[in-house]
Order: sequence, then structure tokens, then C-alpha cells
Amino acid sequence: MEEKLVGTLYIVATPIGNLEDITLRAISVLKKVDLIAAEDTRHTLKLLNHLEISKPMISYHRHNEEARSDSLIQELKEGKQIALVSDAGTPGICDPGEEVIKKCIEENIKVVSIPGACAMINALIISGIDTKEFTFFGFLPLHKKLRKQKLEEIKNSTKTLILYEAPHKLKNTLNDLKEIIENRKVVLARELTKIHEEYIRGTIDELIQKVDNIKGEIVLIIEKNNQTDENRFKDLTLEDHYAFYEKQGLPKKEIIKKIAKDKNVSKNEIYQYFISPQ
Ligand code: SAM
Repeated sequence: MEEKLVGTLYIVATPIGNLEDITLRAISVLKKVDLIAAEDTRHTLKLLNHLEISKPMISYHRHNEEARSDSLIQELKEGKQIALVSDAGTPGICDPGEEVIKKCIEENIKVVSIPGACAMINALIISGIDTKEFTFFGFLPLHKKLRKQKLEEIKNSTKTLILYEAPHKLKNTLNDLKEIIENRKVVLARELTKIHEEYIRGTIDELIQKVDNIKGEIVLIIEKNNQTDENRFKDLTLEDHYAFYEKQGLPKKEIIKKIAKDKNVSKNEIYQYFISPQ
């Protein structure tokens, strides 16, 4: 019986600045594959030259992801071993990759992840901010309504937050964040693994003062919102809790409903407290 050829797609992480941050496994995969699909072939050529690897390359970027995925799937079905790389770091993380991976899964084609550098993880781990639970937002959308929605999520998030940002948009983003994150800690990680690697830590106001003319690649790590409703009201007397909502102009009925919800007790219990003589 004729042996069926099986191709494999390797998702290979590459350095995010320092060319030494490539794993031995990544090098051996890049050496053995038949073809490398690269976000920008000229960019990847520099890495391959540094590693003294010579391989056929094909572009796979945001604008041809859909069509190129189909042709890669075809080659994988013919038994080719293909590596997918982006310009820097881990493919699929704010970089192309997702499309062809989904198609491989649909077509039962083996996909192997070759781990390596990823800016958000490296920024997070030495930020000094809680690493137990976090949300990665990538780049904030520029579309006004979508951006507003994301900012609202950031405002209420009880997990550490990670954002990518371009230097020329940073000031604008920090000013938007200023409205919502008050005194939460922020860490700006810049130029990771490169000569000018730097961590700037502080509150959002402090950061805004420090980032004039900042250059390079940037990750922002934001402390979670510790002021959840549960924390905010925990130590308040019922009278102060009432006053908090009264100041917002809410009617009595609504205030009682809200306090009951915050305290996880029945509305009647709160109502009785306020009508019974103190
Ligand atoms: N796939 C990449 C990864 O694994 O991190 C991310 C690619 S995304 C197009 C590029 C963004 O990642 C940059 O704008 C910056 O926010 C972040 N980034 C990439 N390299 C970085 C570095 N050396 N230092 C800080 N941030 C970096």
C-alpha cells in the first residue's frame, strides 16, 4: 500500500530583538523544513542569514492570510514540512498565524508549536504586578465605540491587564487610561531584550510625565482593579453605603436595591433596617 505523505506545520517563535533568543529546537526546525512562511520574507531573511540557514520562503501576512492559507494547506497535504514565522516573537499573538492553524485543525493536519519569545509574557513576568491571572488586550482598537468598550473592560477588570502600543499612539492611550484607572500601578516595558531595554513604573500620572518622545516597542502592564464593589463597600456602615448612592441622586427604592445586591442580602432586610427606629 502506498504510504500517505503527512505534512506538519511548525509555528516557530523567533526573537523579539535579541537574535540570541532563538531556541535550539527552533533552529533545527527551520533547518529541516521544506518551506518557511514568513510575515515579511526580507525581515526573516536577516534571521536566516544570521543562523546560516538557506530555505525557500513564501510570504504569509495580514493581507494574504486567507488565500495563502489555502495554498499552504495544499502543500501540507502533499507532505511538505512548513515553518510559519512572524517578524518577531510568537506567531498568532498580534501577528498572522491564526487562519492557517484553524484550517490545519479542520483538515486534520498536524500543527506543532515551537515555543520562544513573546513580548507580553516577558513584560509581565518582571513587571512586579500580579501574574496569577491576566487579560491580554493586544492593541486597543482605534474605532471610537470599540475603544470605549475595551476601556470599560479595563476599568472593571479584576485581573492584571496587558496592552501593546506603538510609541506615537502612547500618549493618547495613556490619557484615555487616565480617565479610568486612577491610582492603579502601571508598568511600561520598552525595547525588551534590546540595548535600550527599560521598565518605567508608576501611576498613570507619573508615566504621562515620563514618556515624552518615547521611542521603541512598548508593552503596558496595568494592575487589576482592586476596588471591586465588594471591597469598596465592605467596611462602610449601612448609613455611609446609603449616602454613597444618595450622592449619585438615586431614589430610595433604587438605593435599597443596590445595597442589598452589594451585600448579597434581601431587599427587605435593608428596607427593614432603614424604616425601623435606630
Ligand atoms: N508576536 C509578537 C509577540 O509575540 O509579542 C507581537 C507582535 S506585535 C505586531 C508588535 C508589538 O509587540 C509591538 O508594537 C510591541 O507592543 C510588542 N513588542 C514586540 N517586541 C517588543 C519588544 N522587544 N519590547 C517591547 N514590546 C515589544
